[in-house]
Amino acid sequence: MELFVQAKKLGQSLLDLIFPISCLICGEDGSYLCDKCRTELPRLANQQCLVCQTPSPFGKTHVACKTKNTIDGSISALPYKDRNVHKIIETFKYNFVSDLSAPLASLLIDEIEKQGLKNYFQEFILIPTPLHQRRFNWRGFNQAHLLAEALSKKLEINIDNQLIQRTKFTQPQIKLNADERKRNMANAFELTKDATNKKLLVVDDVVTSGSTANELAKLLKRGHASEIWIVSVAHG
Ligand SMILES: [Zn+2]
Ligand SMILES: [Zn+2]
Repeated sequence: MELFVQAKKLGQSLLDLIFPISCLICGEDGSYLCDKCRTELPRLANQQCLVCQTPSPFGKTHVACKTKNTIDGSISALPYKDRNVHKIIETFKYNFVSDLSAPLASLLIDEIEKQGLKNYFQEFILIPTPLHQRRFNWRGFNQAHLLAEALSKKLEINIDNQLIQRTKFTQPQIKLNADERKRNMANAFELTKDATNKKLLVVDDVVTSGSTANELAKLLKRGHASEIWIVSVAHG
């Protein structure tokens, strides 16, 4: 075991020699997102209702927008359209830089605290948005799960990694328009356990049209979950 750890460490330091770790924004050595750049990243001016995509206090879904299958609220920290935010999220998602999960989760926690929702979420269970097994095998980690692990420590609430499974291999949403996104995500997930009366906090890296979030909400509400929110690092 010890030998394995040593070999892994050696492997990591060789990698660091070939690809030194530096801040994606300012280039300073030592981390992918330095403290200074993290603090200076632009934040979302307001939280939005995920059904109509207009501002709403605490990110709660407007009463008029609610149906029995919609999500109850959405909290996000950063504007996805910002060039630096975009770069960081893309690197986290597609370049397998799992080390970014800690600074990104801390931005998310800042926002939850700013909105005064830390206590509110105490009765919730974290649900990382699942990846399809094929995509998980290819990527080697689920970025939503890494974020959920960091949130779990900070908020002191549990994760359920089993409740939902991704049954459909979907195309990346990024290339699709709003209608195509909805169709792409339709019936993409399956409930594997009882969700009755559970309060669930879905975790994802990016929320765009809200079609994934609303598809999950529909599934969980049909499974009689009592409340469903989503937290994401970026929205746009
Ligand atoms: Zn920096
Ligand atoms: Zn609304």
